[in-house]
Amino acid sequence: SRLRGGRPEKTISIDAATRVLAVASGKGGVGKSTLTANLAAALAARGERVGVLDADVYGHSIPHMLGVHQRPVVVDTMIVPPVRGTLKLMSIGFFLDENSPVMWRGPMLHRALEQFLSDVHWGELETLLVDMPPGTGDVAISLGQLLPRAEVVIVTTPQAAAQEVAVRAAQMAQKVGMRTVGVVENMSYLVGSGQEIFGSGGGQRLADEIGVPLLGSIPLDPVLREAADAGTPVFEAAPDSEAAAAIAALAERVQ
Ligand code: ADP
Repeated sequence: SRLRGGRPEKTISIDAATRVLAVASGKGGVGKSTLTANLAAALAARGERVGVLDADVYGHSIPHMLGVHQRPVVVDTMIVPPVRGTLKLMSIGFFLDENSPVMWRGPMLHRALEQFLSDVHWGELETLLVDMPPGTGDVAISLGQLLPRAEVVIVTTPQAAAQEVAVRAAQMAQKVGMRTVGVVENMSYLVGSGQEIFGSGGGQRLADEIGVPLLGSIPLDPVLREAADAGTPVFEAAPDSEAAAAIAALAERVQ
């Protein structure tokens, strides 16, 4: 397609053997970053060589969720990403002043993403998770151009309204040549009471609509929020929680 015509000026350093999973959502606040951070930590705990690229220009919350406070270091021309154990992390937030708003224009975003994929010393990763900004914007187009083999996982809540916007994110991925491999439903029910706060069935309906499997259902669990706020993956903070079990099942599913 026309979108894929542009050739990157830099050489992408992501190994051809690395699986790239872009985590996308139709809108913000559905838990996309929380799931990306916890999924990455769970995969790393299973012994996988994992990298996380936090490309959510509106949120860039992953370093905080994983308790990573170091900054990247530049050695010669390479950017060495901070790590959490074996997990490597690069975030657009490392390069922003927290107190000043940034108006991202498409070309700027494209260059930032290109640099993250070419100048960062990722090493030989098995999986690179990319936390995408919500919606259907410039980052998806850029990622489609830079890494056309990236696969997409869509996060949604059970709510019909969330499902509708998530369909657009899936269509966008398809337009830029990325394959959607599955849907994760977050906030499926409240732990304990089982109450379906955001309704039910949205994840499965979305999966059916775009013709992919439902990879997991993650409950609304306060320990997940607390662990994220404290900068710890939930399987470390609350290993016996339902959220930890659901994320472990998801990690197994995507591995
Ligand atoms: P997004 O990346 O989609 O904008 P976040 O991952 O930032 O969403 O999540 C929004 C808020 O909801 C965060 O405070 C997070 O800790 C909380 N949260 C996300 N998923 C859950 C869950 N399953 N249970 C409890 N809290 C959650």
